[in-house]
Amino acid sequence: MRSAVLYGPHDWRIEDLNIPSLNNDDVLLKVKVCGVCHSEIHQWNVKVNGLEYPRYIGHEVAGEVLESGKDVKSFKPGDRVAVWTDGKGYAEQINVKSNRLFKISDNVSFTEAMAEPIACTTNGVIRANIHLNDSVALVGTGFMGLILLQQLKLRGAKFIAAIDVREEILELAKNLGADFVINPQKENTKDVIKDLTNGKGVDISFEVGGNETTLNLAADICRMEGKLVIFGFHPGPRKIKDLGYWNWMAFDIINAHFRDLNTILNGTRIGMEMLNAGKINMKPLITHNFKLDEIENAFMAAKEKPKGFIKSVIVMN
Ligand SMILES: [Zn+2]
Repeated sequence: MRSAVLYGPHDWRIEDLNIPSLNNDDVLLKVKVCGVCHSEIHQWNVKVNGLEYPRYIGHEVAGEVLESGKDVKSFKPGDRVAVWTDGKGYAEQINVKSNRLFKISDNVSFTEAMAEPIACTTNGVIRANIHLNDSVALVGTGFMGLILLQQLKLRGAKFIAAIDVREEILELAKNLGADFVINPQKENTKDVIKDLTNGKGVDISFEVGGNETTLNLAADICRMEGKLVIFGFHPGPRKIKDLGYWNWMAFDIINAHFRDLNTILNGTRIGMEMLNAGKINMKPLITHNFKLDEIENAFMAAKEKPKGFIKSVIVMN
């Protein structure tokens, strides 16, 4: 079976690998779609010290069950599933432990069934513990922000303000339920939020962009004793320059980036049930499709974000 293997920066090679062997509680999947994740861009763009190359990445997989191990009772060939996996997703086939599989209903396409991102947003919303009538800001409303937005709506926020520098994203955020949209390149975000909150700042400020600018802005618009939710992925050197201010403002600092497998699987189950029930609309979020041998272009799109870009996925034949 064919697999895209990352040998170094911008060095993808399509290789023929053996079909993975099946343990008793494994399921062998025909991969239909694998999403390109923002967290993978770094190791593709530069050689990251401490990481071993060649790398077998790709963790946002949806596909069809080909075969199940003899102890697997709940899945059979032909079942449509999304999986939580920590790699090897850019391939025609993958085997996964059966407890990491989640069925997707017939009305959900493979492209929409992005289990891992939905698990992250679900856990982020749970961890932030939003209350009725809370005011919420989302700083960075790309792919993850737009899923968060929809789930936050369901928690009864007073308002959700979507903040991003890309106009077309803000337009989509409005369509998906944002009450206010703010472009920091056009307006003073702090002033707008002050006007909306009697000068206080929002109750919950979600940092989604994963960079220093979004982190600082999220803190700038959070009220005293408000919740500052660090949802974005922050690899590399420390970015918190203003701990004194955070301390002074008595922020409730919530790290919403998850590593524990049980937490992840619980978030995946809840999130996938919401997707199956039609509570999350993923259709407008998947904007760029590529074939396996176009994987370099898929990563370039994720890095460069051409106009209209929200998410690229690899679609297998
Ligand atoms: Zn991901």
